[in-house]
Amino acid sequence: MSYPQLLSELDLGFTRLRNRVVMGSMHTGMEDRFWHYSKLAAYFRERAKGGVGLIITGGISPNREGWLLPFGGTLNSVFDLRNHRKLTHAVHAEGGKIALQILHAGRYGYQPFVVSASALKSPISMFKPRALTTAGIAKTVRAYARCARLAQRAGYDGVEIMGSEGYLLNQFLCPRTNRRNDAYGGTLDNRMRLAREIVEAVRAACGERFIVVYRLSLIDLVEGGNTWDETVQVARALEAAGVTMFNTGIGWHEARVPTIVTSVPRAAFAPLTARLKTVVKVPVIVSNRINTPEVAEELLAQGAGDLVSMARPLLADPDFVAKAAAGRADEINTCIACNQACLDHTFQNQRATCLVNPRAGRETELVYTPLGGHRKPRAVAVIGAGPAGLSAATVAAARGHRVTLFDAADAIGGQFNLAMRVPGKEEFSETIRYFCSQLHRHRVDVRLGTRVDAALLAATPFDDVIVATGIVPRRPAIPGIDAANVLSYVDVLRGAPVGRRVALIGAGGIGFDVSAFLLHRAGEPLPLSRTAWMDEWGVDLSVSERGGLKTPAVCVPEREIWLLQRKAGKLGASLGKTSGWVHRAALVRNQVKMLDGVSYRQIARRGLLIERGGSEQWLDVETIVVCAGQESLRDLYPATSAASSRPGATPAAGGPRFHVIGGASEAAELDAKRAIREGAELAAQL
Ligand code: FAD
Ligand code: NAP
Ligand code: SF4
Repeated sequence: MSYPQLLSELDLGFTRLRNRVVMGSMHTGMEDRFWHYSKLAAYFRERAKGGVGLIITGGISPNREGWLLPFGGTLNSVFDLRNHRKLTHAVHAEGGKIALQILHAGRYGYQPFVVSASALKSPISMFKPRALTTAGIAKTVRAYARCARLAQRAGYDGVEIMGSEGYLLNQFLCPRTNRRNDAYGGTLDNRMRLAREIVEAVRAACGERFIVVYRLSLIDLVEGGNTWDETVQVARALEAAGVTMFNTGIGWHEARVPTIVTSVPRAAFAPLTARLKTVVKVPVIVSNRINTPEVAEELLAQGAGDLVSMARPLLADPDFVAKAAAGRADEINTCIACNQACLDHTFQNQRATCLVNPRAGRETELVYTPLGGHRKPRAVAVIGAGPAGLSAATVAAARGHRVTLFDAADAIGGQFNLAMRVPGKEEFSETIRYFCSQLHRHRVDVRLGTRVDAALLAATPFDDVIVATGIVPRRPAIPGIDAANVLSYVDVLRGAPVGRRVALIGAGGIGFDVSAFLLHRAGEPLPLSRTAWMDEWGVDLSVSERGGLKTPAVCVPEREIWLLQRKAGKLGASLGKTSGWVHRAALVRNQVKMLDGVSYRQIARRGLLIERGGSEQWLDVETIVVCAGQESLRDLYPATSAASSRPGATPAAGGPRFHVIGGASEAAELDAKRAIREGAELAAQL
């Protein structure tokens, strides 16, 4: 498939974008520290080289009050220009364009200088803001204009004014957070005054030949947000004030509706951008859960927008555009919207990277150097085609090694074949498709249906053997565990029959996923349609009421489920920072009974006997599903004195070097992020 709309130029009159792909703003953590700017430049350079039309940086504050975190990235002095020029030079050298996002966090700032429209604390920061005075507002407007002018001097092609997701400008715009009774509060005209003054000031400071994107919240997804009619009035006023393009913002950070996690249908919110396009003349950028060139092309073809913003998909694959243009879209490493290595890292103050692409944000550190010169290709056996083995095999082969990949199963993918059966996790199949294309491209010799044993290894002369055999599910020693009514999560996800009343032993990620699997209504198509999803989460895309919220559909659970764990405390504490709440909310809606502090006493025909808080109780269930974690499967890794459980080499006299990665190396706290990273890091060193 070709992508004529996506790959077509956009003429803005004073400048041209080489295609319609915008890399949306993402906070990587690198923009906050000047000593990371060379790494940040390398990160942007790869995306520009990969063909992105317009890159938007992570949020940079115009002043100290606007910091997201203490000493967060700020552009307010000529001394900052040197660092920013590293970024603009890197992108321009590859023929791309780059805009600086100006982000004033307002009451979302996690620092003591926070300000907002009114002195109302947000639920996601412990710091109560000070209400800006009229003089403070004027100073803020000047700070935006100064920041934009400095951006222009640093070589940026434009700026994006962050006006959505509940940050400062949104806080002024909506009655939820604006309780002022001066010229900046009350009527919509007053509430939008600050945004309008900022756009006018930025335009005046930077002239007509400078891109000014405004990221406008099209649906706030919080009570006291704006209505669609108000959003239209704001858009028209900002267009008149000098905006070049509108980008789409969806939902405030404090909203209790997910907007980008993997269970959100692709392009779920695109109809809102399509409506905006009908009321403004400037180009509009459609956004949120767009992760393939097919979806992007279709949106443009339908007129849902003039450009497409993809942020995480360009972390996952810097060559997204180049591959699409070259007819190699099947080779795109697709973002599966897991948030595990990007947003979750940001929320934990770690540098953002990507689960499926561990090089993201580490371009200068994790380098896949092709063999050459005196480096001879090595014969490498990889045992196990799960995420760890696939990552090792494809990186080693791409570098020039001769790789043979074995798996006992008839398909590659390991546990991802189970993960992708969980409702809302369909995207995980894209990773298997990507690796399949890479195995083919780099001519890996793939031997499926082949269980490797010591004899097979002894019969074939390999230089390196990478043990990536994964895990076996743990079977806890509970009296009655071998009864016929006990299943492992593997059996369940492969389709074994399960009763209507079910107890799950173990409430980690897999316990939650299996609950979701068992709650799925037979016959309901997956992935969920946009309408079904909006009804489930109570979203009204007409935004006729404030914030676009409506009463969620009544949920009749498919099964009665008890989800159990031994430790005391909230269930799901180990789930992702930015996605765990979504899983919990879905189970609560389906009336799953979540019990902590449980001891398992006995399993019998009638069900599961547990003890909790000193008293015993029978759970009368038909099926008990064990989701009690895993243990490493590593019997092929030689138990020599030099053997290490960490990835690394174990030289055996005269034999191959042995390495162990992924679940085979360590089952505790294993996830695909670690498995893929370990495979890539090992293969980069071979
Ligand atoms: P595996 O995926 O277990 O692969 C090991 C492979 O080795 C298997 O294909 C097996 O057939 C093969 N093998 C074993 N022995 C031999 C032998 N002797 N010869 C040949 N082949 C052999 N992780 C996340 O990060 N995020 C998630 O959201 C997530 N969701 C999940 C949902 C479910 C339902 C499940 C089951 C897992 C989920 N995981 C998730 C976990 C993730 O899938 C694992 O961490 C990851 O698959 C581990 O990769 P691995 O390559 O080490 O092992
Ligand atoms: P897990 O997160 O380690 O959870 C295992 C569960 O089993 C815990 O609830 C644990 O709680 C319980 N358990 C452990 N030993 C037990 C025993 N001997 N008897 C009874 N219960 C026991 O593992 P998982 O759920 O199997 O997931 C495997 C990996 O896949 C995880 O590390 C996770 O990162 C990844 N994953 C991630 C996601 C995601 O959404 N990000 C989804 C699925 C899987 P108690 O010890 O308190 O009982
Ligand atoms: Fe996408 Fe997950 Fe990578 Fe983030 S970590 S970019 S969500 S695949």
